[in-house]
Amino acid sequence: MIDIRSLTYEELIEQVIGMGEKPYRARQLYEWLHVHTKASYDEMTNLSRSFKEKLASECEMTTLRAEVRQRSKEDGTCKYLFRLSDNHMVESVLMRHDYGITACISSQVGCRMGCRFCASGIGGRIRNLLPGEMLEQIYAMRRDLLAEKKGDEEPRIDHVVIMGTGEPLDNFKNLLTFLNIITSDRGQNLSIRNITVSTCGIVPRIYELADLKLGLTLALSLHASSQEKREKLMPIASTYPLDEVMEACDYYFEMTGRRMSYEYSLIAGVNDGDEDVDGLLGLLAGKNAHLNLIPINPISERDYEPPDMKAARDFQHKLEKNGINVTIRRSMGADIDGACGQLRRHYDVKL
Ligand code: SF4
Repeated sequence: MIDIRSLTYEELIEQVIGMGEKPYRARQLYEWLHVHTKASYDEMTNLSRSFKEKLASECEMTTLRAEVRQRSKEDGTCKYLFRLSDNHMVESVLMRHDYGITACISSQVGCRMGCRFCASGIGGRIRNLLPGEMLEQIYAMRRDLLAEKKGDEEPRIDHVVIMGTGEPLDNFKNLLTFLNIITSDRGQNLSIRNITVSTCGIVPRIYELADLKLGLTLALSLHASSQEKREKLMPIASTYPLDEVMEACDYYFEMTGRRMSYEYSLIAGVNDGDEDVDGLLGLLAGKNAHLNLIPINPISERDYEPPDMKAARDFQHKLEKNGINVTIRRSMGADIDGACGQLRRHYDVKL
């Protein structure tokens, strides 16, 4: 059955006409789905009962409800575990920054990239998420914000990062449909410049994305500065070697003018030494790029530990001194934190 929330506006018009309704019904329906982010047809008050019955019998409507919600007492960060219609689970996070509210969403159930430091990849990829399932993570968190709102001002999620479970470029078609809908001025109208897509380095897809010139920020999960080390941490590196990945990232910057973001999980004794500083300088010096250092979150299935904060700061300063634009990512929701993928693994076993 078609998932109505996964259809672009143009596809929705066709769908509605195919159901014997006038095209303006598509506009109304799209607004209910993507502006008001309603969770059921019943709430769509200006649609006729017969149309709603037809919709219910011919189309599914992805609607997520939180199975688990953990809220940080420190900074209000909320971590969600959503149950999908086939009972699989996905994780999403809502973060409050001084520049706005950011949703971090998943793009797949599990992940087949197998990065050694990541809990999400341990069980492999189960399936791709539909565009509607990616959207609904944002919409469900928005409904949560609305339920809590005080005063008249509507809470707005204005930044989206696709950095949860999954490799977004491994679910490329659905990712593009998701981007079409979330940025549509008939829906949430989110600025594409406020969207970050992270990738472990699927080279052909980076080129495709660059050629589309969408203007989103691309974040490369780098995590090592030599091919040898990267292969040990990230199996995908044997398919797409580091020099090819870096070339593809340069092309992305050239085509889009968007500064590349490089993500680097700091792991004590593995990639935080002086030779790693030198390697990073070799890769990034002179580039218009931003390097994000992320002291790793230990996961029980692996032996990796983060360096202490002083060692992380030293690492940062050595790079900074040499002109690299580098930050250590602030840990949001430290009191509820678990590594990405941990929440799902924990509850998949339990439920
Ligand atoms: S880090 Fe990202 S790409 Fe690698 S296994 Fe985890 S979810 Fe997949």
